[in-house]
Amino acid sequence: MTSTEAHGAAAVRAALPDLVALRTALRGQICVQGDDGYDEARTIWNAMVDRLPDIVVRCAHADDIVQAVRFAIDHDLAIAVRAGGHNIAGNAVGEGGLLIDLSLMKTVRVHAKARRAFVAPGATLSDVDKATQAFGLAVPTGINSTTGIAGLTLGGGFGWLTRPFGMTIDNLVAADVVTAEGKMVRASATEHPDLFWAIRGGGGNFGVVAGFEFQLHPVGPEVFSGLIVHPFAQARELLREYRRIASEGPDELTIWAVMRKAPPLPFIPEEWHGREVLVFAACYAGPMADGEKAAAPLRKLGKPIADVLGPHPFVGWQAAFDPLLTPGARNYWKTHDFTELSDGAIDVIGQAVGNLPGSECEIFIAQVGGAMSRVAPEATAYPHRNAHFIMNVHTRWREAAQDNAYVAWARELFKATAPFATGAGYVNFVPADEPERIEAIYGSNYRRLGEVKRRWDPENRFRLNQNIRPIN
Ligand SMILES: Cc1cc2nc3c(=O)[nH]c(=O)nc-3n(C[C@H](O)[C@H](O)[C@H](O)COP(=O)(O)OP(=O)(O)OC[C@H]3O[C@@H](n4cnc5c(N)ncnc54)[C@H](O)[C@@H]3O)c2cc1C
Repeated sequence: MTSTEAHGAAAVRAALPDLVALRTALRGQICVQGDDGYDEARTIWNAMVDRLPDIVVRCAHADDIVQAVRFAIDHDLAIAVRAGGHNIAGNAVGEGGLLIDLSLMKTVRVHAKARRAFVAPGATLSDVDKATQAFGLAVPTGINSTTGIAGLTLGGGFGWLTRPFGMTIDNLVAADVVTAEGKMVRASATEHPDLFWAIRGGGGNFGVVAGFEFQLHPVGPEVFSGLIVHPFAQARELLREYRRIASEGPDELTIWAVMRKAPPLPFIPEEWHGREVLVFAACYAGPMADGEKAAAPLRKLGKPIADVLGPHPFVGWQAAFDPLLTPGARNYWKTHDFTELSDGAIDVIGQAVGNLPGSECEIFIAQVGGAMSRVAPEATAYPHRNAHFIMNVHTRWREAAQDNAYVAWARELFKATAPFATGAGYVNFVPADEPERIEAIYGSNYRRLGEVKRRWDPENRFRLNQNIRPIN
């Protein structure tokens, strides 16, 4: 028996009488190591994270979350909260302690006339998109449909609809929150507005969100979208043109640049598979003909290897990157915000792509701005409304023996691009080894977040996250 198992067994034994009572009270399940569902609950997207919680509460309803938080308080157990399990830092699961697993709570209810969606915290983006698109509606989220709506929203949330309609948090109307005292409260512009402010970007620091209410926008069901693939040799000139086209385009048009070795996708000629490419991924959230017109300058650039821009179902486009981002690989990320894509940054990134450590690694530059930038930095906890591009260096590999080489490559590129970046970043892209960045990540909102934390979680019970400590 390992020391971890001894610790786990001891913790479970100490809580045993109350655990039986909790099991009776719950509508969901409790599992400990060896039980069905335990490994499913503790396994997350990033295979670098392999932790053994002592007790897992697999919640079926919001009241289960209340019971689980109260149980953790009574037994002084560290609390981890897992929704979609996609966060790179892996804080969704702790070693020991109590894991509140929300992943079975997937219900999405749409009130089409009121343009509202009521979303349970274990829903994925796919669950949200499918439910809302049934009514021709959507909420702005991210670009990988297996991501959890909960973690994405609590950190900010951006994707193909952010420029026209704002970040995910800008479309959050209200949330039900289980507090550090184990009470359920509603947070909105009029109910506990300080808590509502803090959960829009401040992560899971303030309580466990048991339900989200979003406003919806008419989208699709088809959007003008797709990929244009270029040989990487043309990248420097193309990226300079890209930044011009991106800054001149309407809010409805969003273009991301992805640099990697070409995957063996059917629309990429075989001779290009495994070679470095620059991919423009674009989406126009509006009438199809307008999309075609808006994307024309992008399509005129260079001599692409493939151009598969056209009408695609929005739900399908939201899942377009899923095959490259499946769970189970080892992953490490580094992120920067840029107000502009300078020549210097383009040159450094260009050199790094010539040196990619593996076939699954990529650097992507997400275009943001538009409606996102018209929200004041102090209006929500997410402050960096001036970023026009968010870069993520995404290293991805399979063997633990290769960890150091891949992580080192990402760190090197992060360091080399730092002089061209704002110094800030997107909290949801920050890995586990950067706690010193959290203050800069929240910038001018950091102090206020610490004060809200003191009011709602003075003992820092919710600390397995990108932690904001209580400030007096
Ligand atoms: C492949 C991939 C693609 C991505 N693409 C995008 C993108 O396009 N846009 C974007 O904005 N982000 C993107 N992300 C980042 C994503 O927003 C974060 O990883 C986010 O944290 C995922 O949420 P989750 O619920 O899946 O994660 P989890 O790991 O389950 O949760 C993340 C953290 O949030 C907290 N938490 C989760 N649920 C709750 C809750 N209900 N109450 C309180 N705290 C909670 C916990 O602290 C937890 O550690 C992507 C991530 C991946 C892996």
